[in-house]
Amino acid sequence: MKKIVQKSIILILLVIFLFGCTTGEKEQPTPTSAPTETATSTATAEPTITPPPTPTSTPLPLNGQQTQYDIELTINYYNRFITARSRSLYTNKTQFPINEMIFIIYPTIFQNAIYVKSIELGNGTPVSNFHWDGHRMVIPLDTPLRPGEQIEFVHDFELYMPNRAGTFGQTDHQLNLSYWFPMIPPRTDEGWDYYEISLVNSQFIGENFFFENADFNVRLEFTDRAENMKVAAGVLPQEVDGTLLYEMKLARTFTLSISDVYVIAERDVLGTKVLSYTYPEEASAGEAAADLAVDTIKLFTEYYGPVIRDLVTIVEADFEHNMEYDGLIFISRGIFMFYNGTPETNLTIITPHEVSHQWFYSLVGNNQAMEPWLDEAIATYSEALFYEHYYPDLLSWWWANRVDGHQPSGYVDNTIYLEAGYEAYRNSVYLNGAHFMQDLRDTIGDEAYFNFIKAYALENRYQIASNEDFFSTLSLYTDEDLTTLFEEYFANPPVMP
Ligand SMILES: [Zn+2]
Repeated sequence: MKKIVQKSIILILLVIFLFGCTTGEKEQPTPTSAPTETATSTATAEPTITPPPTPTSTPLPLNGQQTQYDIELTINYYNRFITARSRSLYTNKTQFPINEMIFIIYPTIFQNAIYVKSIELGNGTPVSNFHWDGHRMVIPLDTPLRPGEQIEFVHDFELYMPNRAGTFGQTDHQLNLSYWFPMIPPRTDEGWDYYEISLVNSQFIGENFFFENADFNVRLEFTDRAENMKVAAGVLPQEVDGTLLYEMKLARTFTLSISDVYVIAERDVLGTKVLSYTYPEEASAGEAAADLAVDTIKLFTEYYGPVIRDLVTIVEADFEHNMEYDGLIFISRGIFMFYNGTPETNLTIITPHEVSHQWFYSLVGNNQAMEPWLDEAIATYSEALFYEHYYPDLLSWWWANRVDGHQPSGYVDNTIYLEAGYEAYRNSVYLNGAHFMQDLRDTIGDEAYFNFIKAYALENRYQIASNEDFFSTLSLYTDEDLTTLFEEYFANPPVMP
């Protein structure tokens, strides 16, 4: 016991979790600060869904008009150099013409990390009349793109991977490629829907990016020693003559993590493969993470519907936070290193959280800058559901350590631009968010809650859901007066339709 306590202290000192999908870091256990939940309550009514009226025919997601990204990249791992060509075929899915295209080019936030060699239209016509707006490339269109029309751009670029531990960067043992190619933001009838990075007191707060679902075809080659490379992705590749071919449908991003030292644990669950990539030193924790992901997928398939993905990949990250992408999640190295073989550990807290983002983030999108609670409160409360089902005796421990030890307060509907900074953001959106979800469930009852949350997850697949979507679905599953509850937790209390 003493050892475990010492480890916890060291971990708190070592690991400062900054943003995104965060934390799991804990104060000393304070089991006396009683959570309201009863640890013995076992696993909840099976949701038997009574869906609201649905359209008679099921339309294709995004009417089959999702953006098509075709990307070729060649990686020189040992020289940290990448050449790439990205072709983006975009359809105007709105009711109004589009006068300028926007590409988010995230690597531009790092000094000299990207060189855009050329931009062409799909027919080969060079594009030179563009300008930069922060890390966005703005391309005025000579002829507005009318509703239903398509336009294609080809970006040739080189990446000089920054020497940093991050979701975009390379360390001695790991190359991480997230948001690495020109990405088109969501478009509404009002215009392009993008938000600035939130930086408060030198800390990044939350995630400002979110994207529509798109189809990805990615061809990956290595310049040398391809046989050494272990490539983690959100989908399994085909290998043809040394080239890795990835085809990923209806994903919001395409993320890779590459190392020449990864060891891999493999599982299968309900038609989904789980692969867990860790450094050799953490191989046994990697096996444990794979098992946790299997249990998570089993449970949340019941609560939220099928995960849809063929693959869920877990990667041990060199950096000090956790992050979700489509089919791939990063969990910080410290969490693997301090895995203690028991469920009273951050790996057991964080794995269900990150895997739950395959539903709330990947399948059901949301505006992560302005309405971050829609994925983060649900993901944090999903941790509670995991403990409630698999380790009911530890549910009160989870509430005490993960939530109430931080004395959470603040509005659940805070944005990432909260001036009070990172901890206030986490405490309100994630932690008080979990309390809101529990109070909502306690108020409307288990049957209504689980029917509602599953309906919300199913109805908003391949969309970017909003607060309004959440509460309009909720209104179909309860007649309770929720005014007081909403006023307690929301700066802008929703009015149920
Ligand atoms: Zn999260």
